[in-house]
Amino acid sequence: SPIIFWFRQDLRLRDHPGLSAAAATGRPLLPVYILDEDTPGHWRPGGASRWWLHYSLEALDTALRQCGARLLLRRGPALEVLRELCAESGAEALYCTRQYEPWAAQLERALYDDLGARGVEVKRFPGNLLFEPGSVLNQSGEPFKVFTPFWRHCLRQPEPPLPRPAPEALAGHRHSLATEKLGDWRLVPHKPDWASNWHQHWRPGPEGAGDRLQAFLANGVSDYDTGRNHPARECTSRLSPHLHYGEISPRMVWHAAQRAGREHPALADEVAKFLSELGWREFAHHLLHFFPNLPESPFKAQFDAFPWRWDEGALHAWQRGRTGYPVVDAGMRELWQTGYMHNRVRMVTASFLTKHLLLHWRHGEDWFWDTLVDADLANNASGWQWVAGSGADAAPYFRIFNPVTQGEKFDAGGDYVRRWVPELAALPDKYLHQPFAAPAPVLAGAGVVLGETYPQPIVDHREARQAALAAYEVARN
Ligand code: FAD
Repeated sequence: SPIIFWFRQDLRLRDHPGLSAAAATGRPLLPVYILDEDTPGHWRPGGASRWWLHYSLEALDTALRQCGARLLLRRGPALEVLRELCAESGAEALYCTRQYEPWAAQLERALYDDLGARGVEVKRFPGNLLFEPGSVLNQSGEPFKVFTPFWRHCLRQPEPPLPRPAPEALAGHRHSLATEKLGDWRLVPHKPDWASNWHQHWRPGPEGAGDRLQAFLANGVSDYDTGRNHPARECTSRLSPHLHYGEISPRMVWHAAQRAGREHPALADEVAKFLSELGWREFAHHLLHFFPNLPESPFKAQFDAFPWRWDEGALHAWQRGRTGYPVVDAGMRELWQTGYMHNRVRMVTASFLTKHLLLHWRHGEDWFWDTLVDADLANNASGWQWVAGSGADAAPYFRIFNPVTQGEKFDAGGDYVRRWVPELAALPDKYLHQPFAAPAPVLAGAGVVLGETYPQPIVDHREARQAALAAYEVARN
């Protein structure tokens, strides 16, 4: 009887422990992907993530066909779909790669119970993290709540194993089971097609991931430590959506980066910094595993009492990139137009939402969830809580980014703002990050009419900062 291989966020063939184990049995394989919009509840894939998924599944099916198998597509609650598929196909084994979202972990437990009781062998494999949760604990056997000791501890572990090649051939199970059509799932937008130019920015699938990694190691990594803070320089890897969907494994990234460091010893510090960012990904997933409420509730309980405001107009202005603070608006527009935002700007825009506007971080978390191609429950929740000050190892609350000085520091030449907020492009550098401070003739010379061609600031930085610190005092007491 066949083995069902259930693909989830592991849409690759290389360095795939579960798939290799299934192939090694020599039994026929039935690869399936299930579009499950029920089990994740609120955290079903958002719009940008669905776009990515469409093309990633196309790439996976092509790769599987080249190996002699074919991807079956089904839709519905995964537990029910898999139960039915076992009955239809006579499969007595189900293999999959582990996920760490609370709903996914719960589903895995339900599968063991439900299918196990029906005589189906359920096997779950690691593959999407360098270190499994539970394998990295402090001296008291507790999960780490601070990044630096967590990562130091990880680096003392045996090095993650070398990546494995893809199975040479897969014995595709011959069947006449019904499959759905990818196009019918409507994962890509039609009217309006807000992603019409996204192929200029992204190539979902393992080949696109491999090219990104190679290009990064050939160019970006040499200036990673400082360059990574400058959004116009594009010297980060942009691997995040590929890692989220498991088109490339973190072990592949780890070992390729280590190799680059060995070949070019001058790059050792840059490589170490880059690997520590992968470490943040690990940390976020470990946190989510041990603290499953992370996406919904503040990690630090004192923030339960934080006096958040509600202001729909302000939220809307933030979402659309119309706050009157150019670097914030540039970030929000980059996000809307490409499905991505640079990490530095994620921090600045998130700080603006939670501290300048005093809107709950969950509104920002939801918006990012819907608009990021790399939307990832662990990284997004931990990123938002980090900025809001409520997270494990969070930025201290009183660290309130000044959007003007952040822009001046990290986009000194103004290339980033000029690209995403073109209506300000003709302003001189001196006023680009604070058009509201520019004298009238300067604005006129640049064709800027505040309140018309570009918004007036929706809040005053100094007043907003005072209000945020006062709100924090309420939560603290
Ligand atoms: P690189 O600098 O090349 O880093 C390499 C990889 O390390 C990334 O691909 C990513 O997988 C991981 N990584 C880097 N920084 C972080 C970090 N701070 N936390 C966790 N992992 C990290 N990242 C997501 O993947 N999905 C999200 O939904 C997400 N939401 C975020 C929300 C906020 C408010 C903030 C501040 C950060 C968020 N991040 C998220 C983290 C980070 O911004 C992105 O991972 C990074 O910008 C992706 O670009 P890159 O691949 O070029 O990163």
